[in-house]
Amino acid sequence: MTLLVLGLSGPVLATGPAHAAGPDIGRPADAPLRAAFDAAAQRYDVPRDLLVALGYAETRLDGHGGQPSASNGYGIMHLTSNPQVRTLDEAATLTRLDRQTLRTDPAANVTGAAAVLRSYADRAGLTAAQRADIDHWYGPIVRYGGANGPALDRLYADTVYDLLASGLTAPGTGLAVQARPVTPERGELAGVAAPGTGDVGTMSTDYGPAAWVPASTSNYTVSSRPSSYRINYIVIHVTQGSYSSAINWFQNPAAQVSAHYTFRSSDGAVTQSVREKDIAWHAGNWTYNTQSIGIEHEGYVDNPAWFTDTMYRASAALTRTLADRYGIPKDRTRIIGHNQVPGATHTDPGPNWNWNYYMQLVTGSGSTTGTGTVNTEGSSLNVRSGPGTGYSIVGSVADGAVVTIYCQTTGTTVTGTYGTSNIWDRIGTGRYISDAYVLTGHDGFIPGGPRC
Ligand SMILES: [Zn+2]
Repeated sequence: MTLLVLGLSGPVLATGPAHAAGPDIGRPADAPLRAAFDAAAQRYDVPRDLLVALGYAETRLDGHGGQPSASNGYGIMHLTSNPQVRTLDEAATLTRLDRQTLRTDPAANVTGAAAVLRSYADRAGLTAAQRADIDHWYGPIVRYGGANGPALDRLYADTVYDLLASGLTAPGTGLAVQARPVTPERGELAGVAAPGTGDVGTMSTDYGPAAWVPASTSNYTVSSRPSSYRINYIVIHVTQGSYSSAINWFQNPAAQVSAHYTFRSSDGAVTQSVREKDIAWHAGNWTYNTQSIGIEHEGYVDNPAWFTDTMYRASAALTRTLADRYGIPKDRTRIIGHNQVPGATHTDPGPNWNWNYYMQLVTGSGSTTGTGTVNTEGSSLNVRSGPGTGYSIVGSVADGAVVTIYCQTTGTTVTGTYGTSNIWDRIGTGRYISDAYVLTGHDGFIPGGPRC
C-alpha cells in the first residue's frame, strides 16, 4: 500500500506475547492422538517427544488413512514392510496386534513403533537410566530408519534430533514438542559425514547445491545423455514419503524406481541419486524416462503442508538450470507432472501442487519476490499463519523492518497505516502480514509480482 492514512491501530497489531501457544494445542478433539503417544511412551519407556518427533519427520503425523507410502510404510509412524525394512512385521510380533490394525489405527501404529524402538534399545543394551535420556536413542532411531549406509543413517536420525532441537507444533493434531538442547550419542556414526556436507564425494558433480547419494545400480539405466537420448522433459513428482525414506528407497535394489533429484520440504535441501546422463526410472514410461529428468519433492499429494515456499523456490532454481542446460522450453508441455506422462498410473504431484507459482519461479517472467517496509508507527506487527486475522499468530515483525514478499493474496480486510486493504503479504512459509501496514510502493497488488 502507499496511501498514507494516519495511524489507526488495527486488530492485527501485536498486543500480547508474539509466540503465545496457538489454538491447536490442547483442543479436546485432539486428545486421542496425544493420549496415544503418552500411553505408548509410558508402556514401552520410550521418550514421548522422541516418538512425536519421529512421527513428524516421517509423515507430519498424518496417517493417510492407512494408505501405503512409496516404500510401503504405513500410518503416522511409517511402520514399514519391504525387503529391507520390517518394522511393521516386528511391531506385529512385539505387540500381538494384527497388521491391518497397525496400519490403519493411529493409536496402534504409535504403540507398534514404541514397541519396536524399545526392542532396539534393549538389544543395544540401554539401561533404564539411559532410556530416560533422549540423547541415548540415536542408535535405535537409526535402526528404525533401516537405511543402507552410514551417510543415510545420519540423515535419518539427525532429522529427528533436529526436530527435537528446534521444537515442533503439528497443526490439527494437538501435539507439540518444546525445543531443547540435544547432544545425541551417535557412536560410530559421529565421524560420518551426512549427505551434502560439502565434503568431496558427498556432493553432486552435476548440480552444485545437491548432495550425492547414488541409487542402487539395479534402479536405473546407465546411458550417455544427451548424446544417446535428447532430454526433452522435466517430470515433477511427489515422493509419497519422507525425504530420507525416498533417497533410501532408491538405494534399495528391490525398489526398481529412482529419480535424479529429491527435494526436502523444510528447507529446500536437495539430493541427487542418479547422474543426469543416466536414465532414472521415475515416469513409468520408457520413452519418457529416456528423454527426461525426474525431480521428486518430499511429501504426500493429499497434504499441502509439505509444499513449502522454500521447496518450490529451490526446485524451480534447479528446473531453470536444467532447462537452460538442455534447451528444454520452459513451459507446461515440457515441464510436466508425473500424472501427464502417457499411461501414468500415478497422480503426483496432484491438485495441491501450485503449478502457476512454480512456473512463475521457473520462467522468471514475474518477479520472484517483492520487498516492503513495515510501518506500524511503533508496535510490532503480527505474523499470521494465513491471510487473515482469524489465523493464529505465529510471530511478529518490528516496525521499520524490511520484508521479502514471496507472494500476495486476499484475505480479511484490515485498516492500517496505509489505509484499508484486504491484501496479505506472504513473508515466509505459512507466514502472512497485512499489506495495510507495508510500504511496497504500489497501491493494491505489486504489478507483476507473484500471487499466492
Ligand atoms: Zn511420481
